[in-house]
Amino acid sequence: MSYQRIIDMHTHTANSFDGNHSAMYMCECAARAGLRALAFTDHVEIDIFEQHEFNRWARQSYFESIKARAAFLGKPIVYVGVELGEATYDVPTAEKLLNTLHYDFVIGSIHNLPGEEDFCFLDVDNTTDAGIREIMRQYFEEERKLAAWGKVDTIGHLTYPLRYICGEHGRKVDLRDYSTEIEAVLKAVIHSGIALEINTSGLFQQIQSTMPGEEVIALYRHLGGELITIGSDAHYGEHLGRGITTGMALARRCGFGKLTVFQDREPIQIPME
Ligand SMILES: [Zn+2]
Ligand SMILES: [Zn+2]
Repeated sequence: MSYQRIIDMHTHTANSFDGNHSAMYMCECAARAGLRALAFTDHVEIDIFEQHEFNRWARQSYFESIKARAAFLGKPIVYVGVELGEATYDVPTAEKLLNTLHYDFVIGSIHNLPGEEDFCFLDVDNTTDAGIREIMRQYFEEERKLAAWGKVDTIGHLTYPLRYICGEHGRKVDLRDYSTEIEAVLKAVIHSGIALEINTSGLFQQIQSTMPGEEVIALYRHLGGELITIGSDAHYGEHLGRGITTGMALARRCGFGKLTVFQDREPIQIPME
């Protein structure tokens, strides 16, 4: 598989609270690694928008992404995006942002349940199995609502809590216990005409799997899903494109022949070659 075709649709710059490098430096790294295209998708957490000054973060990310796009003349192609967290917890704020900044691409993510902290802070060891089941059910229901709202372009890292519950705390979670809930999420994705992300960051974390994993991607295809985006969730220039070829191979195994990128919020299908 040609490395020239690598497209990374989920990356973070220093304009994310957990990012490290400038958009310009990220583009240098992408060009050096031979990436064809990348999307900058810095965090904007809608549920804590005011307290954490996301208006400023969002504008800074947006304009620095545009500047990097202008400087690199299509090598790599730069999509100006955002990772919109918890959009459905405050729809007016989310809509105002999307009407103000004209992104190419919007990832919709859920990092926490309403009023709770990020799943990375979940006290897994002091939570019963029934407690975990309830959290996962609520999580999938929030993902379903986000997909049904449909004003994002892709659903980011579905099954994110497992990164901590299974990956970092070694707790077993059988996704077959949530087949109804997961199917409802995937049907909402398809009904809204949006995409599903294969997030490859988990391949390099303790969970050792893409998010979501192969069985969920296969189910999405089985239900009629057609639009897949792939992203590394890189927070360092050196991590750009990590796991993308593995994610592409997984997509192929599940029956996908094309990847999707978004420009001006419109899907463009790119054959996987
Ligand atoms: Zn995220
Ligand atoms: Zn991210």
